[in-house]
This record gives sequence, structure tokens and C-alpha cells, in this order.
Amino acid sequence: MKRIAIDMDDVIADATQKFCDMYKAEFGTTIEKHDLIGKEFVEVIAPEHQARVHEYARQKGFFSDLLVIPHSQEVMLKLSQKYEIYIASAATEYPNSLKEKHDWLKEHFPFISWLNIVFCGDKSILKADYLIDDRLKNLKVFDGKAIVFTAPHNLKEAYEPYTRANSWLEIEKLLL
Ligand SMILES: [Mg+2]
Repeated sequence: MKRIAIDMDDVIADATQKFCDMYKAEFGTTIEKHDLIGKEFVEVIAPEHQARVHEYARQKGFFSDLLVIPHSQEVMLKLSQKYEIYIASAATEYPNSLKEKHDWLKEHFPFISWLNIVFCGDKSILKADYLIDDRLKNLKVFDGKAIVFTAPHNLKEAYEPYTRANSWLEIEKLLL
């Protein structure tokens, strides 16, 4: 069986939406995903708010209630019939996130075994046939076939060499 490694944030878990929601709750300003095209969240906010927003993902509970990216559950379940599915998240950047991410997976992706969850730092350690990820730094160091999953920030030319999937329905067409 071929192996697929799948990132969490902005691939199966909507971290960007959580940034938008927390920012609105704290500063009263609405930022939507279309405001973030080709940009990082901190690039579209007032410089004096950047240090504060930088702390959001380090706050307890940040990763506990992220929305599930549409169709990721059903498509991953189908993929798991034909491929070995691994979750690969650079979770050690946020040490508090490990338990939260684990519990979130258990709740929303109960068919993923603990044996198939990889919480790491540098993703060049991964060995798989495919990697589905929204970050260039992770796609670049991957040995197999890298698939860029569309997130507002990655709508940039630098991602062009990679196969792009705009949704989980496109992943389904690509891999099934
Ligand atoms: Mg990600």
C-alpha cells in the first residue's frame, strides 16, 4: 500500500479561521480569508497587534476546537481503504498543542490509529509516497510527491511546481 502523509493545520483543521475569530474577538476587526490571499495573517494587521497575535497558537485551547476542513473526513476515510494514511503535524513548534491535537484527531478522525499519528518538527524526516501540506517549507524538503493544499497564504507563484488541490474533493479525484 502506498503511504500518504497529511498535515493538520489548514489541511484538515481550519487554523486560519481560528486566527480570524480570535482577532475579531480581541480587536473588533473582521479579517476574512480573501483578505489573506498570498499573505500571512500578521502581514494584514496593525504592527502593534502582531506580537499579541503571534501568541494565539501558544494559548491553551487554541487547537482544541478548530473546525474540520470540509470533506476531509469522508475523503480520508475512503483513502484509508486504498492507502496507508498518516497524520504528520509539525506540532512540536507549539508544545501545548500535542494533547489538544491528539484529542481533536480522536474526536474528528476516530478511524486514524495512534500508530498513524506523527507529531514532529522538521518534516524532512517523513517517509511516504505523498505529502498533502499547505506550507512550502514542508513540501520542499519532502522526498515523495508533494501536493499543495490551497490555503489563502499559499496562493503564490512559489508554489507552482507542486500539484495543487483546492479542496478535499479534488484530492479524491487526484488519488482515488
Ligand atoms: Mg499546515
